[in-house]
Amino acid sequence: MTVAANPAAPASNFIRNAVDEDNRAGKWEGRVETRFPPEPNGYLHYGHAKSICLNFGLAESYGGVCHLRFDDTNPAKEDREYVDAIVDAVRWLGFDWREHLYFASDYFDIMYACAESLIKAGKAYVDSQSADDMRANRGTLTEPGIDSPCRERGIDENLDLFRRMKAGEFADGAHVLRAKIDMASPNINLRDPAVYRIRRASHHRTGDKWCIYPMYTFAHPIEDAIENITHSICTLEFEDQRPFYEWLLDALADAGHFPRPLPRQIEFARLNLTYTVLSKRKLVQLVDGGYVAGWNDPRLPTLSGARRRGFTPEGFRLFAERIGVAKADSWIDMSVLEECMRERLNEIAPRRIAVLDPLKLVLTNYPEGQGEPCLAPNHPLKPELGKRDIPFGRELWIEREDFMETPVKGFHRLYPGNTVRLRYGYVIRCTGCEKDTDGRVTTVFAEYFPDSRSGTPGADNYKTKGNLHWVCAANAYTAEVRLYDRLFAHPYPGQRREGDPESAVRDFLDDLNPGSIRIVQARLEPALRAAHPEDRFQFERHGYFIVDRYDSAEGAPVFNRSIPLKDSWTKDRKTRG
Ligand code: ATP
Ligand code: MG
Repeated sequence: MTVAANPAAPASNFIRNAVDEDNRAGKWEGRVETRFPPEPNGYLHYGHAKSICLNFGLAESYGGVCHLRFDDTNPAKEDREYVDAIVDAVRWLGFDWREHLYFASDYFDIMYACAESLIKAGKAYVDSQSADDMRANRGTLTEPGIDSPCRERGIDENLDLFRRMKAGEFADGAHVLRAKIDMASPNINLRDPAVYRIRRASHHRTGDKWCIYPMYTFAHPIEDAIENITHSICTLEFEDQRPFYEWLLDALADAGHFPRPLPRQIEFARLNLTYTVLSKRKLVQLVDGGYVAGWNDPRLPTLSGARRRGFTPEGFRLFAERIGVAKADSWIDMSVLEECMRERLNEIAPRRIAVLDPLKLVLTNYPEGQGEPCLAPNHPLKPELGKRDIPFGRELWIEREDFMETPVKGFHRLYPGNTVRLRYGYVIRCTGCEKDTDGRVTTVFAEYFPDSRSGTPGADNYKTKGNLHWVCAANAYTAEVRLYDRLFAHPYPGQRREGDPESAVRDFLDDLNPGSIRIVQARLEPALRAAHPEDRFQFERHGYFIVDRYDSAEGAPVFNRSIPLKDSWTKDRKTRG
């Protein structure tokens, strides 16, 4: 990767180099037009975010435009609900397709005309072999295929059959239209690929108008050509399809359907991310199997889940930039994505106090019924955001893990006899604790030093190692807080582990992280009661949180943890993995 002269400019990569090369040659007179072409058969996931950032980002930086195109040529699995969710997700990521919103199904008439043109040029034929015969005659990687007995049908017969396919005269599967290329090609994709099939299925946009539908590999190049796409960027699995992409558009340009230069297909490596799965098929399994609570479950790697979790569009853009694009498949560690989210959240999230696992602390020498405000900064890096008052009083909530009756070595927080600072408040000395019949600590007792209040001259006389956060018990807001964690406990869900024969038969569901969600009743500083859906905060010492956009009510927000402050996975992966 070369270093860009302008630090704000995107780093160079092989796709940008290809675009530059085309521009230098004056291929499209400098025009750059890309597209993001999801199939509306599921929700978008983090992998799509990479593709969206790439396609829209490329167009943006060359002053071009990126289309949002629904590749809805397969009637069976597609749905309006998905279309809406995809529109929302791309918009949420902050991209704009202007007037360029398209549906491949709007092109069915043109696609049909293209197919007829191929027939008329002797470049397509109707095959009436059974699906099994067609498969058997396709050959293998080492053996050539066998010509279909229908391959030499005359143009008129082909045209007649194809028109009758369209008219609904034949049963599903009775015939298919195939491109006539080369049954001996070393590239199996060029062995007379099917381009149209009979399929009696209602389409979410065209209804029952059609009973024949184009194959994806036929439809996609045509969609690109219709929209005057310059660079058609797709994932590596389509590399072997590129010769057909080029053959088809070339044949259709010859027939006068499209002008040259034709769109150029460029492949890049799809995103693989550890500790999750990025395949719609598996995501459907997780949702339908009830392993998560729907498509927008914050643990799912969907963009609607990410939004609900509190991840940011800026974090995704930073991530896309940081991982770049490559020509070879590889895995990206989840910690890279999480760190990108942290970086952006650190900048934007105001600080607040929350006690997630509350334990009562009583300051025995603080007057009963009395209280006072303490000043806490809203953002340590942004003094211009000012400070806010948080109430202090005799009874406080502290984090259970901040107290130990018998401290272990190196524990500097609260234990009998020890002195700590209550952040933004007073220094206290622990005097003891009370336990229930099970031996569980129920209350901790301490005395405060009246001249130790933060911000007053006397405060500096106290040297303490512990600095605890707390919430005043008299007016804390008790709220549900969901502590989300990685969905899978293993970096490569369902994959075989070296030296572990049992792992050979693992299903990805076996690797689910049983601790991926923990719900607590937390005690929060009172002002958080007024937080609105999608407000973000850093809860000091805990991480980043967002107000759930669905389950919160006015005056009763519920919080989702977006991400802890530090990565606890990378260092102890061995014990958890
Ligand atoms: P899946 O494999 O999850 O079913 P898909 O490729 O079928 O995804 P599409 O709706 O066809 O999903 O994808 C739309 C665009 O997003 C395509 O251009 C595809 O290449 C790209 N895309 C899908 N998954 C990834 C990924 N993991 N990384 C990068 N781009 C991806
Ligand atoms: Mg697909």
